[in-house]
Amino acid sequence: MSFAALTRLQQGLAALKADHLERRRLLLDGAQGAHVTIDGQRVVSFCSNDYLGLAADPALIAAAHAALDQCGVGAGAAHLISGHHRFHHDFETAFARFIGKPAALLFSTGYMANLAVLTVLVGRHGEIFADKLNHASLVDAARLSGARFSRYPHAELARLESQLAASPAQDKLIVSDLLFSMDGDVAPVDALLDLAERHDAWLYLDDAHGFGVLNEGRGGMSGRARASDRVIYLATLGKAAGVSGAVVAAHASAIDGLIQKARPYIYTTAAPPLLAACLLESLRQIEAGAARRERLRSHIGQMRRGLAGLALGKLMDSDTPIQPLVIGANADAVRVSQALLPHGLLVPAIRTPTVPAGTARLRITLSAAHSAADVAQLVEALHDLD
Ligand SMILES: *Cc1c(COP(=O)(O)O)cnc(C)c1O
Repeated sequence: MSFAALTRLQQGLAALKADHLERRRLLLDGAQGAHVTIDGQRVVSFCSNDYLGLAADPALIAAAHAALDQCGVGAGAAHLISGHHRFHHDFETAFARFIGKPAALLFSTGYMANLAVLTVLVGRHGEIFADKLNHASLVDAARLSGARFSRYPHAELARLESQLAASPAQDKLIVSDLLFSMDGDVAPVDALLDLAERHDAWLYLDDAHGFGVLNEGRGGMSGRARASDRVIYLATLGKAAGVSGAVVAAHASAIDGLIQKARPYIYTTAAPPLLAACLLESLRQIEAGAARRERLRSHIGQMRRGLAGLALGKLMDSDTPIQPLVIGANADAVRVSQALLPHGLLVPAIRTPTVPAGTARLRITLSAAHSAADVAQLVEALHDLD
């Protein structure tokens, strides 16, 4: 019997491989960090989002051990049944206080939080306005909402404004990455808020990469955004926070709306409470993390000075831990990435469709867990390849 669908799938996979677009998973042994064992090789890693080095921090490990003895492993049920543990609750309270919003809600992942927010706040008769470079989960969430979906070119607020002005929709929502994950630049938060106010829209800010790093760890929200009822803030907790999950902070009614209606919240088992206990410790470390953020700033400066004259690629304009080195063609980016491995350096290539065609890049990410010597090693290796 022929199985045509399987054959077509295999042909599609072969085509990806021919286009240098095949994705492969690297195998990590031991803990995440600046120095890791990947595919059996000890390397310095410049690709994790563990910007503060908290993923394997002794204080978080101790918090996990302590929580494990108190609450076991599994949550056992969804939040609205019997899975809402005091650790989850305490983290939400602590996060809302830290970030300066009235209420907060913990999700199992950022992907799910994004599905939840966009489907609850904007229905089929609404319209979502999104930056073209937003994270894929926000694109999927907008589609799932059934709302009209309008995208504006990256950070082009004049285009956004004309889209808003032309919209007949009752419920409008502007959504933007706060710190763009592949470019490292920061969204113009107050200008977006001006537009949201002028056109009576929600403003949803996905700060997956800024939380813990920007603004004493409080992330990229401005004071005005913090105080505004129309601003909804997302932090993901598997990046700088070093754990797992995501948390939405907003007006209490927005949070209540999510608890009542968000399917990615209601119809899923709560994350293990021990993770929430780790998050409480992570929040303490972030609050007291000035030294980590200072180390990060110093690495960013060292990297940018070191790579300024490089010919094989151009650093994008970023003063965040995301330092993309744009190379151009997929195959060239892959070649540079592979050439770094024998130097003991792990910097994967980011290709289409994650980034626009012709802008394949090394997405170099820096962490407080790096040393100045680690950064110097990468700078030197890239100059050797130049
Ligand atoms: C990583 C990321 C997410 C998804 O968060 P997870 O917790 O990893 O599911 C959402 N938005 C942005 C901008 C991200 O970078």
